[in-house]
Parts: sequence; C-alpha cells; structure tokens
Amino acid sequence: MYSISEIVQIIKADWVQQNAAATIDHILLDSRKLLFPASSLFFTLGGPRRNGIIFIDELYEKGVRNFVTDQQLNPDHLSKYPEANFLQVRDALQSLQQLTAFHRKQFTLPVIGITGSNGKTIVKEWLYQLLHNNYNIVRSPKSYNSQIGVPLSVWQINGAHDLGIFEAGISHADEMERLEKIITPGIGVFTNIGDAHSEGFLNVRQKINEKLKLFLHSDVLIFNADDPDVNNAINTFAGNVRSHDNFQLFSWSKNAKAALQIIDIEKSNGLTTIKAIDYRHDKSGKAVSIAIPFTDEASVENAINCWCVLLYLSTDELLIAEKMLQLRSVEMRLELKKGINNCSVINDSYSADINSLTIALDFLVQQQQHSNRTLILSDILQSGKSGRELYTAVAAILEQKKINRFIGVGPEIVKQQAAFKNIPQTIFFSSTAEFKQQFYTLHFHNETILLKGARVFEFEQLSHLLEEKVHQTVMEINLNAITHNLKQYQQELKPGVKLMAMVKAFSYGSGSFEIANLLQFHKVDYLAVAYTDEGVELRKAGITLPIMVMNAEDVTYDLMVQYNLEPELFSFAILTGFQRYLLQSGITNYPVHIKLDTGMHRLGFEAKDIESLSAFLKSSSTFKVQSVFSHLVASDTEELDEFTQTQADLFLQSCDALQKITGYTFLRHIGNTAAIHRHKNLQLDMVRLGIGLYGIDSSPAMQQQLKNVTTLKTTISQIKNVKAGETVGYSRKGTVKKDSVIATVRIGYADGYPRALSNGKGKMWLNGNLVPVIGVVCMDMTMLDITGIHVAEGDEVIIFGEPLSVHDVASWSKTIPYEILTGISQRVKRVYFEE
Ligand SMILES: *Cc1c(COP(=O)(O)O)cnc(C)c1O
Repeated sequence: MYSISEIVQIIKADWVQQNAAATIDHILLDSRKLLFPASSLFFTLGGPRRNGIIFIDELYEKGVRNFVTDQQLNPDHLSKYPEANFLQVRDALQSLQQLTAFHRKQFTLPVIGITGSNGKTIVKEWLYQLLHNNYNIVRSPKSYNSQIGVPLSVWQINGAHDLGIFEAGISHADEMERLEKIITPGIGVFTNIGDAHSEGFLNVRQKINEKLKLFLHSDVLIFNADDPDVNNAINTFAGNVRSHDNFQLFSWSKNAKAALQIIDIEKSNGLTTIKAIDYRHDKSGKAVSIAIPFTDEASVENAINCWCVLLYLSTDELLIAEKMLQLRSVEMRLELKKGINNCSVINDSYSADINSLTIALDFLVQQQQHSNRTLILSDILQSGKSGRELYTAVAAILEQKKINRFIGVGPEIVKQQAAFKNIPQTIFFSSTAEFKQQFYTLHFHNETILLKGARVFEFEQLSHLLEEKVHQTVMEINLNAITHNLKQYQQELKPGVKLMAMVKAFSYGSGSFEIANLLQFHKVDYLAVAYTDEGVELRKAGITLPIMVMNAEDVTYDLMVQYNLEPELFSFAILTGFQRYLLQSGITNYPVHIKLDTGMHRLGFEAKDIESLSAFLKSSSTFKVQSVFSHLVASDTEELDEFTQTQADLFLQSCDALQKITGYTFLRHIGNTAAIHRHKNLQLDMVRLGIGLYGIDSSPAMQQQLKNVTTLKTTISQIKNVKAGETVGYSRKGTVKKDSVIATVRIGYADGYPRALSNGKGKMWLNGNLVPVIGVVCMDMTMLDITGIHVAEGDEVIIFGEPLSVHDVASWSKTIPYEILTGISQRVKRVYFEE
C-alpha cells in the first residue's frame, strides 16, 4: 500500500537506519499477532510495564524488517539488525495515528462516526446489518474504538469500499481530537451519556463536550434530545464550533418536537412497534413507523438511532421496514466451551470476515490444551475482493497460525479449494446440510475447533453437534476482565517486581487451563497451585510457565519431577524426604521454594530453624532455591497493619540470614492481592496475585478499578401461584403471608449455593429486580418470591455477577467471597468468553 519511504515522509520520521525498499500492507502492534513479516510495519508502543522495543529481537528473527520507534536507539542496537529499516519518531502512538489519518484522507467515501457511553458497537453492527445489501461497508472490528483500535480500523479502508462505519470511545479529555482526525465522519451519531469512564473527566458536561469533538467536521449529527445535558451541550456545540454552513442537527425525541418525534412505542409478543412523525422536510410532518424484534429499552434507543441514519441516507421506506424487522442481537463474544470427545469449541458463528477471523484465530492459538487446531469456515461474503485473492490471503493466515485441519463450507470456498493446498488436512462441503450428513465421518476428538461462519450458513446447527450439552446453570468467565484485572495490578507494581498468579482451587473456581493459558499469553512470571495434580493438569494442557506447588505430598514426587513442577518446602521432614527422593533419582539443582512462617502458624520454617536450614541448603547441591516466601495474616486489615509490618520485618531478617549463610540469591515474596495495593513497600521481588485476578479486592479503591469476571446464572423451571397461608419447601419454613407468585430455579446447595441463604437471607437478580429466596435452599433447587414481577418460565436468573456482587452474596451468608467462588461445584459448567 505504502512504500517505506512514503511512510517516512507521512509521519516525518528520522530514518536512522535505512535499508532495502519495502511495501507496507500491515500495521503490527502486538508481536504475537504477526502474520506477514515482510509487509508489516511494527510500532513499538509503550505499555504500563514495558515498551514494544523488547520484541524487536523476536520479530527480526521472524523476518520483520520495518520498525517505528520512539525509544532511543544506539549504534550497537542498530548493527544487531543489519537488514532493518528503523524510523525514529517522537511518539510512536502519535505516528501511528498520523499515518492512519493520512490513509483516511485518500478516500472520499461517506463515513459514519459513532460515539457515546453505551450502544456504540450495537448501533455500528446494526447499521451494518441494515445497510450491507446496499453498500460495500468497512467497519470497526468488534469494539475497536480506542486510541489504538481506531487507527487499526481505519487502516482497513480500500478503494472497493463505499461506506465506512467506525466507533470512537474515550476515557480522558483530549483523546477525541486525535480520533476525529482519523475517522473524520460526515455523519455523526451520539448514542447517549452514562457513568462509564467518568473518572477521566471533570463533570458530565465536559465528558459530553469532549465526545462531541468527533463531529467537528461532520455534515449531520444524530442524537436523542431527551437528555437535557446532551441536548444543551449539542445545541451549544452546534452554535459555537460550527465549522461550515451546512451542518445540521438531526434530533429525535419522545417528549418534544424534534426532527423525528416519537409518538408511540408499543410492545407485544416480543416486538416493539415505534411510530413517529418525520418533520425534516415538511412542517406538518410525515407519519413513519418501524417494528423491531426486541422489547428492551436499550434496543429501542439503538434502533431509533439507526433509523435516523437510514432516514438521513434516504433509504427506501419498505426496505427500512423489512430490515428493521430482521435485526438480530449482536454477539460480541467468542465463547470457549467443552466439546464432544474431549474437544474444546470456540463458537464465533455469527460473522465471517477476514478481520474477525484473524481475531478469532488469535484466540484459538492462545489455547494450548490440544495440539490439533481445526477451523470450520463458511464462505466469506462481501469482502470486496475476488474469490481467488480473498482465499489465498485466508490460506496464508491459516498457515501462519498452524491450522492442522481446515473444513470449508460453501459454494465459493469449494471453488477456491486449491488455495488451501498447504494446510495438512482439508475437507470441503458445499453446504451446512452436507456437512451435517457427513458429521460422524469427521471423527472430531482431542482438538480445538473454531467455528466461524456467516449468518446465512446457520453454523449454530454445527455448534449443537459439537458442544457438550450443558445443564442450564452455568458460570460464565469473562477472559477480557481477567486480562484487565491483571493489568490493573501490574500498574500497581514497582518496576522490576515479578508476578506469580495463584491458580489454585481450579483458579478460585473459574477454571484451570483456560485461565492459565491466558496468563501464559500475557507473560506472568510464575503460576502457583495447591496440589501436584493441579499442576500436572496444567502441564498436560500445554502450560510451560514455571509452576509452584504449595502442598507437595511425598506420594506425588514422581509426578512432580516428571512434569517439572516446583514444590514448596515448609518443614525439615519434607526437605529431607524430597532430598532423599532426588538423590535416589540422581537429580541435582532441582528448583524449590522455601516457605517461612512469620505469624500465620500454618506451614513454614520458623525463625529458630533458619540456621540449620541454611546449613542444610549450603551443604547440599540437590536443590536450587528459586524463592523464599511467607504469607501475610491480615494484609487487608488496617487495625492489623502493625502486625503485618512485624511479619515483614521477621521475613526480611530471615531472608538476610539465609542469604548470608548460603550465599544464594533467590526471589523474596510476601504480598498477596490485598498487599499489592495496600502495602507497596512489601512488593519485594515478586507478589502473589490471587483473588484480585478474579475481580475481588478488599480495598474499595482497588475494587473500583476491577472488572467482574464470573457470573453465575440459572433459569426458572416453574412458576406457581401460592395462596396466603400456604408454605413453600421443606419443613414448611417458607410461609406465604399474602397470595404470592413463586419461581423455582435450577440451583441448590449441591451446586454451591449456600443453604445459609434460606428464608430471605439470599436474593437473586431477575429481570432488573432483586428477589428474595423463600423457604429453605434445597439440594438442586431454590424457590424465589417473584410476586409482582413479570417473568416467564425459562427466564434467566443471576445468582452473582455483573449487577449483583459476590461480596453481597458472601456477606448474606456470613462468609467471604473466596468461599463462595471456590464453592461452586464442578457440576456447574464453565463457559469462557472473550469480547
Ligand atoms: C492463596 C494464596 C495467595 C493469594 O491470596 P489472595 O488473597 O487471593 O491474593 C497468596 N499466597 C499464598 C501462600 C496463598 O495460599
């Protein structure tokens, strides 16, 4: 697309090392996402912990030759990479934005820009659903709306596109001006304003004003005038910043006269009919209406915003009516589920285009649990490229990602099968029906399968065949939230402090290798499990990070060594026992960890043991001590901070003594989750992050920065009317005082829902309401009093998760979040997703 010398000029870089001419097609920001080395330009962006410059070595090795960096490069550095082009700039992120803003200017296509607090991605995806038959659309993949996501989205524009739809999101003042230069939308949509990201702004008005900067050069701005803050801000914006004469406001309102005035909203049978008067061209107005297959308020608002865009584009009325009725919910999640015959299934059967395919393949590659990777892909519709060009590009990506088995479904892909000749195994079907007929001959087993198909291919039929059936109580685990939480704690760490992630007890109930894969992908330094078999499980699933085992039992030494797991040694008995085992096996320098007891009085060597422990270690070459650590009793409790300091002092003294006598160097660590934030001076060489990773911290300040990871859900199996005076459940404990409606839900104490939550102590979240438990919690079921609430059998009930914190559930049952999370039984299936 651009030659490297053009790019040098566009971003005004200093070409500090100049080499062969190159043509750049791809922007690379993450070394793990490398696909096309020769035509990629790598920007070394800075993260909270490290700069991208550390990946140059690895990328150069893999054939990347073009780099943009804002880090200081010295001559030694450059001579290590003799064939590379190095472009030195002041700020690599700004250069990336400059380059993509330049790229945007090369095209005159109409562009829709969307911002606001909620609904950006849905409005964008719905506009795509509504308009993709009329235009060749380029749009942001998923929710790529950040300072980095927007440049990557806009970089995709090519000459075949005739409409762009991009979303922009900001969390601080001054960010939108940069995004405006990259998107420069002619048509603007402002969805709404809410509480998200408020901390980056002085007040609501400033937040709105900042977001409005996206529309500085727009022709029209579509917005809901019913929020007075938004309405006032937009009218002032239009008056002040109007940069050209034909700027128009296109407002809609339910209460007042607007360009589109909504006069009636009626919901029935799952449909919402919206009637309005369009006053844009005619003072007396023109009656218009649509119906959408959703009834919730957010969907109604999103649909009206889309409707205004269609009206502005003068879309045919009949077409609007037809397409609105066909709107489908937007699936933004990549779900990882247990499949048949020990497979893992990633279901992304809602869209198929090259960008979302690449994102889904990255997620597939992150999975290490099976060495075989299978992709089932439908025809990719509307790419704007010829079939040959498109599938050659797809095949090149599949080779890069080491896909072993490729199953293509659709008439077009069948025609292009020659493109896939380098994939070890390929199979083609002209339709989903044909695939289904042959399903049992394909023998899916022990493999990770990615299902990726355009809607019309109805791949949900295949996911039904491939996924293990789950009982209707599930625990959903948001992998993005774990990543987010990890980054929040990394930002709390002083430079150089290492991080051990605690994945004991099935990762606090959230899963095993699924979580470990993610942590390995994000390069934590260490993992820790409670028992050897937990570590073995992780090794079998392809986890190569060092793993510490906290309860090493002598019967498991064989497995420990076979799987290269590192035991925690906490007593002389275990020290000598493990040494005996290693001596017999002729092993020396085996990595171990030494646990000191500084006040917990649970496991560990005490201060009085240090001298003999040191002498023992010094005289023996059986062990290599990787780390020495201790555990804090009350790092979350202010009243006990003095005790915490006493523990730390004792720990450091013991470490010094150990070091002095043995001459060893080892990592020292004492801080768990609560200590990372509350006791920064105790971060030492490493911290052990546990519950915080899963979204729980005892400090409100830290809790606020975390995202919810787990959501436990079930469904209503039956609803009954129960008369006043009757009782509900065992032992007649649940007395009904007035005529009531009772719902039975599919979760009980055998699933880990505490029986202590009986008789109104516990509550669940049902369609926006908190409803109390009535009677006693049974083994597999619980009854709720849902009097006055409109719900139906089969509706979803949230036990804890996004709207209902596990802190609350824990306090109602007089326990702590740790016990609730780890107590959810294995009978409850875990579903992992990435947004
Ligand atoms: C579980 C555990 C941790 C993690 O504690 P959190 O409070 O969950 O962060 C740290 N160290 C040891 C020894 C543990 O057993």
